[in-house]
Amino acid sequence: MAVPASSLQSDQDLKPKMVLMSSLRVILQASPCKTLWRRFQILRSTPVRPCSLYTCTYKTRNRALHPLWERTDLVPGGERQSPINIRWRDSVYDPDLTPLTISYDPTTCLHIWNNGYSFLVEFEDSTDKSVIKGGPLEHNFRLKQFHFHWGAIDAWGSEHTVDSKCYPAELHLVHWNAVKFESFEDAALEENGLAVIGVFLKLGKHHKELQKLVDTLPSIKHKDALVEFGSFDPACLMPTCPDYWTYSGSLTTPPLSESVTWIIKKQPVEVDHDQLEQFRTLLFTSKGEKEKRMVDNFRPLQPLMNRTVRSSFRHDYVLNIQVTPKPTTSQASP
Ligand SMILES: [Zn+2]
Repeated sequence: MAVPASSLQSDQDLKPKMVLMSSLRVILQASPCKTLWRRFQILRSTPVRPCSLYTCTYKTRNRALHPLWERTDLVPGGERQSPINIRWRDSVYDPDLTPLTISYDPTTCLHIWNNGYSFLVEFEDSTDKSVIKGGPLEHNFRLKQFHFHWGAIDAWGSEHTVDSKCYPAELHLVHWNAVKFESFEDAALEENGLAVIGVFLKLGKHHKELQKLVDTLPSIKHKDALVEFGSFDPACLMPTCPDYWTYSGSLTTPPLSESVTWIIKKQPVEVDHDQLEQFRTLLFTSKGEKEKRMVDNFRPLQPLMNRTVRSSFRHDYVLNIQVTPKPTTSQASP
């Protein structure tokens, strides 16, 4: 997921976010995690379980590094970082994982803007009008924003991968725990503060609802551009299948706080090539700067370390085939 990074914004209109960013910068500079990060770097260069599933696509994808990740010594790390490669055979079915309940009020949608790393659609979050609950979550989590990550070409772009398979893009819907925290800014830095739904985008048929977003992109081509974007229900971007994986992880942009309960939907949604091409017409750069296309805005994969990925659905781990659930033992599968 992406939280606006301090280096990515300057607009006076975005003052509240600047306050957030200055506090995040303080956290970053004061972080005691440098030692952990160095250890983590060593581990990252050596796959925990090297195996033939690490395909050429995986290697190629990680050659397309955004400059944000070229100076990895600047960012702290830990033991539950994101994104990760999800392995079907290692994921553990948890019958207690109920389906996620999604309840979004389209009128809470505020605006869409280019933060210099992705484009974000932000929501009014002073009340519980747009929330998710259930699944792995103990409380209601309020929708704050959603955004995407994508590649320069269709062969890669997602942050998470499934059995080392990359998708061309990934949607992140970012929610915060308003029961435990007073603000999104506080929640983003603390354990159990955020819940992010990840949805893979795959190449296929035209996505009619996504097109409403795509049509707005020319007006936010440059960094810091912001336009009103009212009445949009992001539930229209969700796959129909309720199945998901969940694990404890982190933000995928600095300060990389380990505050996120990830909920990764198993079923991707289809979009067409032209729609992804429109994502790639956005720019990392502001007006007047040398133009740099907004592509490959994903973080490299991180080691799973001592974590378990749970699935809400039963599956055969050898064949990666979903098993038809018995009504008495599963309420999470369709
Ligand atoms: Zn993201």
